[in-house]
Amino acid sequence: MQNFVFDKLNFLTAGMPMRTGKGSYGRAFEVLTELNLDGMELEFVHGVRMNDETRKLVKSERENKNLILSAHAPFYVNLNSQEEEKSDASVQRIIETGLAAKDTGAFSITFHAAYYMKQDKETVYQTVKRRITEISELFKRENIDVWIRPETTGKGTQWGDLDEIIRLSKKFDNVLPCIDFSHLHARSVGKFNTYEEFSKILETVGNELGQTALDNFHGHLAGIDYGAKGEKKHLILEESDMNYKELLKVMKEFGVKGALVCESPNIEEDTMLLKEYYYSL
Ligand SMILES: [Zn+2]
Repeated sequence: MQNFVFDKLNFLTAGMPMRTGKGSYGRAFEVLTELNLDGMELEFVHGVRMNDETRKLVKSERENKNLILSAHAPFYVNLNSQEEEKSDASVQRIIETGLAAKDTGAFSITFHAAYYMKQDKETVYQTVKRRITEISELFKRENIDVWIRPETTGKGTQWGDLDEIIRLSKKFDNVLPCIDFSHLHARSVGKFNTYEEFSKILETVGNELGQTALDNFHGHLAGIDYGAKGEKKHLILEESDMNYKELLKVMKEFGVKGALVCESPNIEEDTMLLKEYYYSL
């Protein structure tokens, strides 16, 4: 995978900045440039709907403005659905997201891969691996030079803790984790929130998957509300206990390059906060 070589950590909004208003991608990219932000995660959360004209516009504007793009597949994905049709549709949604990423020049796609459906972890892992094999091979056949990134999930009912996603990533040369730090924090009901714990995450990723995984990073961060069952909802960073300052310190020390996508409800405000804090270090 050579699609992007990063020279720094880029700060991306999850979807269009709020002040885009009813504007389109063209306006959203202008706003990002005005705010000195580095790009955007295209949010296909309710389906991959983007016509050819928009794909071309997004691609050319991305290039003109030198922005970084990633894409989030629809929420309605479950590679472990016990109904074959739904599992097939999930594979299809991930492929469609990959094609949209290829057409627009996004470097990476992420998705919530599966639910355990009360099955044991090993069974689910094998099912997810089988379906990711199909996706990985199709991406290669169709020259979709885009990273496939299952996201670390926020709830215990969802497949995808850090170990599972690292284990899966090792099997494929076009698969890496999307590390959602807020999900890790919520899923563990409060862990993964100190300097030592963040260091451990990046050390594990680097040791297990190699330097590529840190040079070509795709992560998510937001404030988060959680309970005994994990993630409840995203919050504004300063209204949450998410220790983003220590995390950014660790990311800087590890020299992480790639994209950190901010999913806070105030979108661009927290993305700016993260970028400003990172560069103040
Ligand atoms: Zn997500």
